[in-house]
Amino acid sequence: MPSFALHQTLTLLEMALGVVTFVALWFIVAPYGRHRRAGWGPQIPVRLGWVVMESPAIVAFVAFYLQGQHRLDVVPLVLATFWLVHYTQRVIVFPLRMRPGSKTMPALIALLAVSFNLLNASVNAPQLSEYGAYDTRWLVDPRFIVGTLLFFTGLTINVRADAALLRLRKRGETAYRIPTGALHDRVASPNYFGEIIEWTGWAIATWSLAGASFALYTAANLVPRAVATLRWYREKFPEYPAERRAIFPWLL
Ligand code: NDP
Repeated sequence: MPSFALHQTLTLLEMALGVVTFVALWFIVAPYGRHRRAGWGPQIPVRLGWVVMESPAIVAFVAFYLQGQHRLDVVPLVLATFWLVHYTQRVIVFPLRMRPGSKTMPALIALLAVSFNLLNASVNAPQLSEYGAYDTRWLVDPRFIVGTLLFFTGLTINVRADAALLRLRKRGETAYRIPTGALHDRVASPNYFGEIIEWTGWAIATWSLAGASFALYTAANLVPRAVATLRWYREKFPEYPAERRAIFPWLL
């Protein structure tokens, strides 16, 4: 368990990393998925990459969580369950549903994501089970209720948008199509939109700098990528609907 001072330092480090990431990603689009390109070192299979890079968000999170003195309290257990619902979906269900064919991703991307997930687990798990000091009255606090509603709204948008994208391909296909329906008619990356709502809800439900640092990092990571993805769709598909935005309906 990181000491209180170390935990605060790690939280600020995650915030700083969000700022650096946001600036860097306007210049360098992370080279995986549709933005994959040569020159980024050794490659690994995509499905393996997702399992490896997201697993620390379960394993390290649980390891840190169990060291906290409030690990058996109701509110930390409820919030930890939210987290694990998201990451069970991300680590197990999402990779199983994807149709990666023989596609690969740079091992470097997986390594960077593992590092971030370790940092994020060391920030968010101790917040719940050690430093948050949530008592059961938190369950009826408006911040918990609003944050929880946002979290599950975002999760639903994210999972449904990912599922719609994954259904665009038949087994063995690797081509891209223009997605349609629901928020896909409004933005290029509704899955990223859902993810940002989700972790904003987490920040509110945990009412913590730890939660805010993850929400900030998520937006810093996904907003520039969504803008690059909209640009990619417009270049690849001349018929791509002009009214679609990158990530926030009607806004950006
Ligand atoms: P993408 O939207 O790029 O891709 C999701 C899946 O759908 C991939 O398997 C992709 O295949 C496939 N796909 C996407 N568009 C099409 C299309 N037009 N036609 C056919 N197939 C398509 O999302 P990411 O891979 O970047 O992210 C996956 C999930 O992880 C998302 O839910 C995202 O929110 C989350 N995430 C969260 C981050 C965070 O900071 N919290 C960071 C990064 C991701 P292919 O791989 O071949 O392109």
